Amino acid sequence: MNVTSGRRYAKPLELECDTVVVGSGSGGAPVAATLAEAGERVIVLEEGPHVPGPRHGAMRQSESVRHVWRDGAMTLAVGIGDSPSINVTAGRMVGGSSPLTGGVCFRAPEHVLEEWSSALSIDDLGPSQMQRWFDQVAKDIHIEDVPASLRSKSTALFVKGGEALGVKFDSMQRNTHNCNGCGRCNFGCPHEAKLGVDRTYLPRAARAGATIVSDAIVERVELEGGRAVGVSGSLLDGEYGAARSALRVRARRVVLAAGAMYTPLILRRSGLGRRSGSLGKNLTLHPSFRVMGRFDEPVRGWEGALQSAYSKHYEHDGTVLNSVFVPNGILAATMPGFGKHHAKHRALVGHLAMFGVMIHDEGAGAVWRVPFRREPLLTYKMTKRDRARVPVVLERMAKIFFAAGAREVFFPVFGLDSVTPDTLGKVDWSKIKGPKLECSSQHPLGTCHMGSSDAHSVVDPHGRVWDVPNVFVADGSILPTSLGVNPQWTIMAMSLRVAHSLAGG
Ligand SMILES: Cc1cc2nc3c(=O)[nH]c(=O)nc-3n(C[C@H](O)[C@H](O)[C@H](O)COP(=O)(O)OP(=O)(O)OC[C@H]3O[C@@H](n4cnc5c(N)ncnc54)[C@H](O)[C@@H]3O)c2cc1C
Ligand code: SF4
Repeated sequence: MNVTSGRRYAKPLELECDTVVVGSGSGGAPVAATLAEAGERVIVLEEGPHVPGPRHGAMRQSESVRHVWRDGAMTLAVGIGDSPSINVTAGRMVGGSSPLTGGVCFRAPEHVLEEWSSALSIDDLGPSQMQRWFDQVAKDIHIEDVPASLRSKSTALFVKGGEALGVKFDSMQRNTHNCNGCGRCNFGCPHEAKLGVDRTYLPRAARAGATIVSDAIVERVELEGGRAVGVSGSLLDGEYGAARSALRVRARRVVLAAGAMYTPLILRRSGLGRRSGSLGKNLTLHPSFRVMGRFDEPVRGWEGALQSAYSKHYEHDGTVLNSVFVPNGILAATMPGFGKHHAKHRALVGHLAMFGVMIHDEGAGAVWRVPFRREPLLTYKMTKRDRARVPVVLERMAKIFFAAGAREVFFPVFGLDSVTPDTLGKVDWSKIKGPKLECSSQHPLGTCHMGSSDAHSVVDPHGRVWDVPNVFVADGSILPTSLGVNPQWTIMAMSLRVAHSLAGG
């Protein structure tokens, strides 16, 4: 795929096209492919570098984190009140967060789509109307079941414990082809088996004539007479991108797809999207926790697909159990204790199994612009309902591990030692305050949410920003509510829907 690096230009760059797409991730790439294939002149501007799959797959994991994870994976949504602070990760590269995913693909749950179509009165977001877009994405990115043979022992043990307690698990689906279960997904696939947008929609867009410019950051939408006439920003230089020279793209249409943390910032800087007062608010994160069980036998949880099984057994209670594993080095660093105590725990890594849980949260966060800083400030206040779910689900997961034969269980709670079957009931959750919880998110969503009235939403049912005729948003920020499942499939489906309405199809 041909990508032009903005670093090549020492002088200001001016370009012109029909549609400029800002951001090349799960939202932007399907729009670029659809419009380029419909014959439009498309330019994609991406802040991050272009790191082709084989080069990314050969990087050390720590190098990947520094080079293509946003902010070196250190972004934090500051917890308000009794909420945990949440480590929010995203990609900053050609392909956006897509090359970093575990490949997990879920359709948006029917009840969520029903809510979007009925409560929010956006008729064609209903399950039957959206099916066409989900099916199209499934073909485009090759979504397939993860075979049981790729399950890690870590996952197999948790599933065994769950099934002993009557908790049903299913195989996940992922966007892969010829995956060998090497377990490196989050740091780039060395085998080109993960079919993210960097391997599907973006090459299609480029083949259809789209120009993709990396190392190019957009600061604002340029307006004249109440219409957008393009975007402006900077070409970046150096490892972490000091602005080097000016960038300006004139276009008859602007599609913002910079992700839920950045699209609202671009709109705010441009004086757009503020009519409802909800720009940058309604941030949902799917706060996630992982629980680990220590077994007598070796587990070597890093062998096998990172993510392969899930359970919606507790969906009625707003939680979904997802298999996960993290690299050994990171895992060792998160074990409790210091010095000798820590060394003792660190030595257990090969005997640990791990499983994750994700909360289907209510919109409780916000993205704020910080003067003189490119990165936003994120805040998050868990609702009482969501906060109350945390100890309940963590205890359930511990019981599942014990049913599988775990000797001890480690909760994601700073300062808390492991628990055994005998001590589990003695944990006093009322004394464990939010800041003690180790929580993460890979799914920032909803900050420019779609709706049927400009009084309550940032974009209209076609993704158009309410107060300007030719600026659209197509990324995770337009999701009207939290999904409760991993979002990439839904984001791509929503983007295809926006793109086809722009292309008139
Ligand atoms: C480690 C990790 C694992 C994940 N695993 C899964 C998974 O298994 N399954 C799943 O469904 N989801 C997963 N996700 C989430 C999924 O990748 C995201 O929800 C999805 O990619 C978001 O799409 P997006 O278009 O909104 O944003 P992104 O894909 O993040 O793309 C936004 C792009 O815009 C660029 N950008 C930002 N600001 C500017 C600017 N001013 N100018 C130009 N460019 C800009 C960014 O650099 C980025 O490349 C994971 C995410 C991460 C980080
Ligand atoms: S587990 Fe499969 S998809 Fe993930 S990095 Fe390895 S080969 Fe690629």
